[in-house]
Amino acid sequence: MLRRVSDDVTEALRAEQQRFEAALAEVNDADALYELQVQFIGKKGSVSKLRGRMGKLAPEERKAFGMAFNEVKKAIEASLEGKHRAIKTLQREADLGRFEDLTMADTMSPVGSIHPVTRTRRQLSRVFRKLGFDVVDGPHVEHELYNFDKLNIPADHPARDMQDTFFVNGPAGETDSNLVLRTHTSPVQIRTMLGRKPPIRIVAMGTVFRKDDDPTHSPMFHQIEGLCVDEHVTMADLKTTLYRFVGAFFETDLKVRLRPSFFPFVEPGAEFDMECPFCPKDDAGAKLPDCGVCKGSQWVELGGAGMVHPKVLQACDIDPQEHSGWAFGFGIDRMAMLLHEITKLGLLFDGDARFLEQFPC
Ligand SMILES: [Zn+2]
Repeated sequence: MLRRVSDDVTEALRAEQQRFEAALAEVNDADALYELQVQFIGKKGSVSKLRGRMGKLAPEERKAFGMAFNEVKKAIEASLEGKHRAIKTLQREADLGRFEDLTMADTMSPVGSIHPVTRTRRQLSRVFRKLGFDVVDGPHVEHELYNFDKLNIPADHPARDMQDTFFVNGPAGETDSNLVLRTHTSPVQIRTMLGRKPPIRIVAMGTVFRKDDDPTHSPMFHQIEGLCVDEHVTMADLKTTLYRFVGAFFETDLKVRLRPSFFPFVEPGAEFDMECPFCPKDDAGAKLPDCGVCKGSQWVELGGAGMVHPKVLQACDIDPQEHSGWAFGFGIDRMAMLLHEITKLGLLFDGDARFLEQFPC
């Protein structure tokens, strides 16, 4: 049988198509795909070159070859188009994978934790709000008037010497500005009594400053104070509130006791203790004496309290014949130390990450 020239050209065309399909299967990116396109159907591509051989065909063979050529070229173009879409889809998925998912928590980055003092402040705030107290704050730089005078601590009162105080220059550098870094949160009580009418139920908490600096004292520490002013308020209300507070805070029933003491802004004054919530117990629930917190006494000293001195009420334009009040205060840092079994006060303020990392969020 006579073999026609067009058979050879068509065979070459099919062979190029097969070579193209094999090469296409290896292509994975747009650049390689473009190169393939140029290599086969570009102006000087191997498939395009075969078209040039059409001129050598007999006129009757040209039509069959032309149809075969167009068929192959269309098939190659369709394959290129399909591959192009597949590469774009893969690229988009890869890009999506590379973008940060902003809704996902980044578990690789180091995150801070809540400082034990802040954590304790929040716990205290939560408990006192539940007990019906407003949480209020005041300035850290105070007038002596609010920090001392209106708290029944006049200029010559020995209590001012007890509280070694940081005095602060005035805005223009005045050394007689009568400004101090507040030595307690009590001036917030004064500001509240001057600004509100009874009934008053507030707790003030925050940073206070004294010149103490030894292993058990820091020049900067944190205090919380509570104040209640109303008609017929008594020590019994104070003790009940402290009892409710420690029970809610430590989530167990704990006794509270008051011991007579002196603070110039209360009369009578007391120190208050709570039953130790940390004592180990035997199998029958009886407390064992070897407690590292209370040293076997079964009591933990918390702070000071008492009935608001009539002179303090008068200094805040509240008539002590009509209203009475009580107040208490204690250290937040000490509470944080008790809760987290921290043995050294300085650890709270050194900013040592190795210590703070032990309190994950
Ligand atoms: Zn104990």
